[in-house]
Amino acid sequence: MIEGTIIKGIGGFYYVRVENKIYECRARGRFRKEKITPLVGDHVHISVDNASKQGVIEGIMDRKTELIRPPVANVDQAVIVFAIQQPDPKLSLLDRFLILAENEDLDVVICLNKIDLEAKEELQRLRMIYEQIGYQVIATSTKVKMGVEDLKECLKNQTTVFAGPSGVGKSSLLNSIQPNLALQTGEISQKIERGKHTTRHVELLPLEFGGWVLDTPGFSSLQVDFIDKEELQYLFKEFNEYLDRCKFQPCNHINEPDCAVKRALEHGHIHISRYESYRQLLEEIEQARRY
Ligand code: GDP
Ligand code: ZN
Repeated sequence: MIEGTIIKGIGGFYYVRVENKIYECRARGRFRKEKITPLVGDHVHISVDNASKQGVIEGIMDRKTELIRPPVANVDQAVIVFAIQQPDPKLSLLDRFLILAENEDLDVVICLNKIDLEAKEELQRLRMIYEQIGYQVIATSTKVKMGVEDLKECLKNQTTVFAGPSGVGKSSLLNSIQPNLALQTGEISQKIERGKHTTRHVELLPLEFGGWVLDTPGFSSLQVDFIDKEELQYLFKEFNEYLDRCKFQPCNHINEPDCAVKRALEHGHIHISRYESYRQLLEEIEQARRY
């Protein structure tokens, strides 16, 4: 038996990459009985027939993470891409992406793209807010090739999902990282999808310097109302050190007296835009529960 990674699944077949070979595999019937569906990203044991390059998935190793949309196992980190201009960054939207990624237990890196368009003030402002919380912020421009090496460094040997609004430069960034990445996708899908309908499937793309990138942006639904109301506060990382100092337990950090989160806000330890995002998301979650 050999070990590999499922990079793609189509019509009951799983494509398992082992070093530079790809095996077309079926899953053992017992997985269905046990209600386990192999996922793209799964590390698997397969038995193979080297002549036909076909194999059978015999075992699935424990998953570190499991994304629902897109359905992928073992993603390590999310790179959340925003543009510094065109489109102007909306912090409430950035925070929404951050909370969704935190909720999936992913490591998060913020990538601020299109820095060629702006005279650094907006970049500094966003850096201040998010680096203070502890997020790594990478500034890039695909137009003048800045920061691309920093981004590569952060992708190395990791499995990464890119996320962010459309038009911020996600595809351009992937292209700057590895010019053949998109092309390679085309080649693999052509080989595999001969004659099959062209539904979009999520696929892991191998990086030549080590690591994987999902070919599909993460968090296509930005709804947060499936998150528990009590859980939300923990997803705002910088709130954590204050939570057990609130007088009321549990505390919503809205109208309660003697609230440590609001005190931290007044003293500037929590940024107003983050608190506003928290309020807004909490409100959304409460609204959804009301009906
Ligand atoms: P996606 O929707 O996030 O995948 O964004 P795209 O990669 O398709 O880029 C959207 C637009 O932004 C395109 O017109 C790109 O040429 C442009 N763009 C991407 N990166 C940069 C950049 O660093 N600077 C500038 N000025 N434009 C960029
Ligand atoms: Zn409180």
